[in-house]
Amino acid sequence: MRIDVLTIFPKMFDAVLGESIIKRAVNKGIVKIRLYDLRDFTDDKHGKVDDKPFGGGAGMVMAVQPIYNALLSVTGKTSKGNKGVKKDLKVILLTPQGKRLDQGLANRLAKCKHLILICGHYEGVDERVRHLVTDEISIGDYVLTGGELPAMVVIDAITRLVPSVLGDEDSSKFDSFQGGLIEHPHYTRPRIFKDMSVPEVLLSGDHDAIKKWRHKEAVKRTKERRPDLLKNKN
Ligand code: SAM
Repeated sequence: MRIDVLTIFPKMFDAVLGESIIKRAVNKGIVKIRLYDLRDFTDDKHGKVDDKPFGGGAGMVMAVQPIYNALLSVTGKTSKGNKGVKKDLKVILLTPQGKRLDQGLANRLAKCKHLILICGHYEGVDERVRHLVTDEISIGDYVLTGGELPAMVVIDAITRLVPSVLGDEDSSKFDSFQGGLIEHPHYTRPRIFKDMSVPEVLLSGDHDAIKKWRHKEAVKRTKERRPDLLKNKN
């Protein structure tokens, strides 16, 4: 999978891409992530990528031109036509006005070959950017300063679903939301901590009994915490 990120703050990604599972996926070449600084694509002689909003009002708006030129460069398209643009490419604008990210959407995106993520900033992007994208994604009903954290959330959520990224494929198969439930509780050593002990069944070695217990706990937990998920199941 290839992920290209268009941003005015590429350094923000260093910590997230340089640690843990994402770093391993990148080092193994399973996921290729490239960052593009939108300032490198502006025609403005002072390097500006934003401007005042037409009609007045607070804040600045990210201009369409640098985003358009960055997309041409990344996709291999020219303003006169295609130069090998792939069919399975999704160009995604991160915006609080987009489709809300959930596990189902993350699963679908993890099957794509090439994603381009566009991070807005300030008041957002010029409306004409919407004509250049295939999808708009929000990470929740709240407004962040920029699209960089949402892009990192999308990258993290989908990278762990790409085959061979997690050491054990089962790790994500039984995660919360994958089967319409939230996950069962986990325990590790010691068997007793203060006065809290591990449920006996987990120490029994009886794999069928453990499987049943885990499913029962997942259903119970979902009923208590997220009854809405059970309504959507079936
Ligand atoms: N004025 C815009 C609005 O009300 O819809 C919000 C702009 S926000 C301050 C700046 C940028 O942050 C957006 O263009 C978007 O890229 C990103 N952003 C903020 N909240 C987001 C969210 N919940 N999901 C995805 N992107 C978000």
